[in-house]
Amino acid sequence: MTAAAQPRFEGSYMGAAAKISAQAVMECKICWTPYDPAEGDDTRQVAPGTPFLALPDDWSCPTCGAPKEQFMVLDDPGSDTARIAEDLARRSAALVAEFTEIYHAKMRDVPLCNTALHVQAIGFRMHEGRPLGVLVAPWFMNLVQLPASGEDWSHLTPGAKEVQGFPSGEYEFLHNTRGALGGYKACSLFSPMADFASQRQAVEVAEAVMAALFDPDAMEETDRAADIRAAREAELAARADEDAEAAARRKDEETAAAKAKILASSPSRRAVLTAGLATAPETAAPDTAQPAESEG
Ligand code: FE
Repeated sequence: MTAAAQPRFEGSYMGAAAKISAQAVMECKICWTPYDPAEGDDTRQVAPGTPFLALPDDWSCPTCGAPKEQFMVLDDPGSDTARIAEDLARRSAALVAEFTEIYHAKMRDVPLCNTALHVQAIGFRMHEGRPLGVLVAPWFMNLVQLPASGEDWSHLTPGAKEVQGFPSGEYEFLHNTRGALGGYKACSLFSPMADFASQRQAVEVAEAVMAALFDPDAMEETDRAADIRAAREAELAARADEDAEAAARRKDEETAAAKAKILASSPSRRAVLTAGLATAPETAAPDTAQPAESEG
């Protein structure tokens, strides 16, 4: 703070206006008169819902006439929210910057990259104190978890596996570290990204993933799904035998339809998570179909 600015800010917010949220309740430090944005100030025709920071510059304490600068924060229910949002924005931007650089430095000319896509962080939120969201890149879509603020993950062993529980089930995360970014944990959702026609489609799927992750109804029933699939395949095979050549064409159509139906019924956690918005390539196991695994 400069010497020139000092006389202006004598209250507890000391000129740090950015730290006060729109919900901040302020108090005159001379006569303790509060300003509650929910109530406004009818002595000065200030409408309810007016944040303290939106008050006119010449607004003063309705009781003692002290200027705005004499007010201090009494209670600010919005400050945590604002601080968390700021932290999430800063950290997801760092993640995007890091992977954008990787793309330009190493991945841009690799054929598996989908050039319709770019690096983007989607749906980042705090989960158990740590940022969690989806990172979309031209060569992968991963669920990414970052350390809590003050937590050091730089010691993580790249490639180490960790299973984490969410309301929709358990997911395997791979540990990783990367230069300026430090440590992070990633759960592979898609790789490569050839099935996505546009960034918009990838973003929609990523948003659906974040919603499904926390939805207990998206819980995968692996064994049951496998049973259903086996039963249907047996049924289709029996029917094919009976009908033979005459119905071959019709059978192919039915098989295709049945397969599509089975695929939609929950063959994999990724399909469950993406709610049919995109189907994961059947061969794209998280650990094998990622030539650039160390980059994800
Ligand atoms: Fe006052």
